[in-house]
Amino acid sequence: MYDIEKIRADFPILARKVNGQPLCYLDNGASAQKPQVVIDAILRGYAEDYSNVHRGLHTLSNISTEKYEAVRGIIARFLGAAFEDEIVLNSGTTEGINMIAYAWAMPRMQAGDEIVLSVMEHHANIVPWHFLRERQGVKLVWIEPEADGSLDPAKVLAAITPRTRLLAITQCSNVLGTMVDVKTICKGAQAQGVPVLVDGSQGAVHAPVNVADIGCDFYAITGHKLYGPSGSGAIYVRRERLAEMQPFMGGGDMIRDVCRDTVTYADPPMKFEAGTPGIVQTIGFGAALEYLMDLGMENVAAHEADLAKYAGERFSGLNWVQVQGNAPAKAAIFSLTLDGAGHAHDLSTILDQKGIAVRAGHHCAQPLMQHLGVAATARASFGLYNTRDEVDTLIDGLELCHRLLG
Ligand code: PLP
Repeated sequence: MYDIEKIRADFPILARKVNGQPLCYLDNGASAQKPQVVIDAILRGYAEDYSNVHRGLHTLSNISTEKYEAVRGIIARFLGAAFEDEIVLNSGTTEGINMIAYAWAMPRMQAGDEIVLSVMEHHANIVPWHFLRERQGVKLVWIEPEADGSLDPAKVLAAITPRTRLLAITQCSNVLGTMVDVKTICKGAQAQGVPVLVDGSQGAVHAPVNVADIGCDFYAITGHKLYGPSGSGAIYVRRERLAEMQPFMGGGDMIRDVCRDTVTYADPPMKFEAGTPGIVQTIGFGAALEYLMDLGMENVAAHEADLAKYAGERFSGLNWVQVQGNAPAKAAIFSLTLDGAGHAHDLSTILDQKGIAVRAGHHCAQPLMQHLGVAATARASFGLYNTRDEVDTLIDGLELCHRLLG
């Protein structure tokens, strides 16, 4: 059973006040809070076990290496990857997608080749592809969401041409909360021999993930949204694609031999992990994923579905609030604009006075903002520890905004 009070007690920060009010943290889409087990893993990582990883022959280096490398297995289990060596550790989704752009896409794409993207991608899944457009003449093909914010897999697949080299699609919009049927997209794309990169930064947070079942080639996650430390993350890369990738960053740890005139590389995944990594961050990330697996992602998903349903009902009673996106499959992420209200930032500032943390702005999704015809929204994004009472607190706060700004 999902004991929400016990779960909340696992997150020490939830007990604090902000501006004299109990914290109502609804900015999980930007970054989630950390449970005590993650904080403890970080403390232990520095206070008891710290040393650099790999190649060390002394005790602390061996302990750090073992703990660090164990996280690869934890991530593989969390994502349902068949092989641990398909997990490349990194600092988060931005690094993961840039790595795919540099190490896999750039060497194999020419002018006129096409990458298909949805309009609701985060900039992390847009700008690396713009690099290929600018530098190599690759064409970006954009798929618009439907009026309700859903993304039609048939439209994505219909955009495939003989020049399509990659589909790069989010599993969950960080603005609309739309959950995308990436499995259908991958199946259709694979039938036509087109690889798919799934941005799982938001998707993996809200529902169980199984990359083998999805059938994607690349799947990016970021630790800090999964209740782990910032500066941690990973990307799943299917073995065939790993074999096609050239090294991305060069340096220590990714080589076999370096001579004056030659260099040979380590096998994947090490080949793509140059330099001293975020050792303790990654160990903390492993603790976060174990915490999530102990809770059960299906239980987290059910809890958040209840919050989404309740919040949706409460918003529908307010005719002066517009919720952007009401796709049938929607995570508990609500981007709001208010009739006659000033900028979304005013909303966020007033809510903050009530201890409510929401994010205002374009949410690193400017093409989507252009599509919606809004400059900014105030986004309330719920996590595994939020409650129906907090939905009520948000609605009370919005009523205050309406009175002050409307
Ligand atoms: N993709 C999506 C859908 C996101 O929401 C985010 C973060 O907001 C990112 C990518 C980038 O993640 P990071 O900044 O952790 O690399």
